[in-house]
Amino acid sequence: MTEKKILLIVCDGLSDRPAKEFDMKTPLQAARKPAMDALARHGMNGVMDVIAPGVVPGSDTAHLALFGYDPYKVYTGRGPIEAAGAGIAVLKGDVAFRCNFATVDKSMKIKDRRAGRIKAGTSELAQALTGMSIDGVTAVFKEGSEHRAVLVLKGAGLDHRVSDVDPHNDGKIRQSTPLAPKAKKTADVLNEFVRRSFDILSDHPVNKDRVKKGLPPANIVLPRGAGSINELEPMGVRIGMKCAAVAGVTLVKGICRLVGMDVPDVQGATGGLDTDYKAKAEAALGLLKTNDFVFVNVKAGDVASHDGDFRMKVRVVESIDMMLGMILKDLPDHVIVALTCDHSTPVSIKEHSADPVPLAISGGGGRVDGVKDFDEISAATGALGRIRGTDLMPIMLGMADRAKKFGS
Ligand code: ZN
Ligand code: ZN
Repeated sequence: MTEKKILLIVCDGLSDRPAKEFDMKTPLQAARKPAMDALARHGMNGVMDVIAPGVVPGSDTAHLALFGYDPYKVYTGRGPIEAAGAGIAVLKGDVAFRCNFATVDKSMKIKDRRAGRIKAGTSELAQALTGMSIDGVTAVFKEGSEHRAVLVLKGAGLDHRVSDVDPHNDGKIRQSTPLAPKAKKTADVLNEFVRRSFDILSDHPVNKDRVKKGLPPANIVLPRGAGSINELEPMGVRIGMKCAAVAGVTLVKGICRLVGMDVPDVQGATGGLDTDYKAKAEAALGLLKTNDFVFVNVKAGDVASHDGDFRMKVRVVESIDMMLGMILKDLPDHVIVALTCDHSTPVSIKEHSADPVPLAISGGGGRVDGVKDFDEISAATGALGRIRGTDLMPIMLGMADRAKKFGS
């Protein structure tokens, strides 16, 4: 028996609802997509509640479920995912935060939550903060895109159950408070980090220069979304496969890195509408040579939906179809291909929804049902029925002849 490889392609937010202005079709139904339809026709289909029926998934919790983790057990906040996406190694016991560079006055009232969407100089500002030592805890700090940054506290006795410093409005910055008795030290260290960051950043040449130019200084950082990864066992160990990912958007890259996948940077994979589909197809085929499990995320459908642009979303479907066509044409034997979405993002509401997503799995000599098209409505008539996100990994492993026998 040959153990097969697995290719999982997740079209972020591509699943949708029928649109009145477009003949009551969803973007998937309105698009021309020969490769997706061929995959559906040659495999098994179903619909999937990625977290659970009636739950609106975030991209982060959804991907954890698709990778076989119970998001309710392993997800504590977005901090660790963003930090991993930014390239900081987040380890067991660390507490990670997302941060904004912001502008405050002397009374700590927020003047600009994004420091004028600062673009240049954040790397120098981050350099001035990272490595700070407070009460035996080391603060690792790194800039992200524009005003965004991440903070990881490393040391003994930390606990992620602390409130945000970021007030999420234009009020005064908050003191972080422990939400559990064991988290007092973490809240104290965090407050001290924010206090010192104000002193250091206020005097920094980058900010003095900004003030001279009439720009708001990035004179404080606002941490939020504390989280830790205490329960996360690497995916490669769990499923016994060497895992790699192709993703452009930082959040998804972060999840892949957190679960221990190899995530090479792919030139042109931007996570936006301008992503290079051909480069993604080539990267996926390349990674399949040296890995057993390859994951591909394409973010563009979700972006078009948040913009409320139906026609753009149809074009995204057709671009992803071209990418899939390139992959299928050169796909080696013994690869199971699963095509699905991490959640629905209906163009009509410009937000994620609880509607289940379509799923097609094909290859490896598996069964074939009667479904002929890849879309939300056709998939519901397929052999996989209606499953949950955490069912996907065991089903794929089963089809790849990698599931373990229960009993003798
Ligand atoms: Zn998503
Ligand atoms: Zn989204």
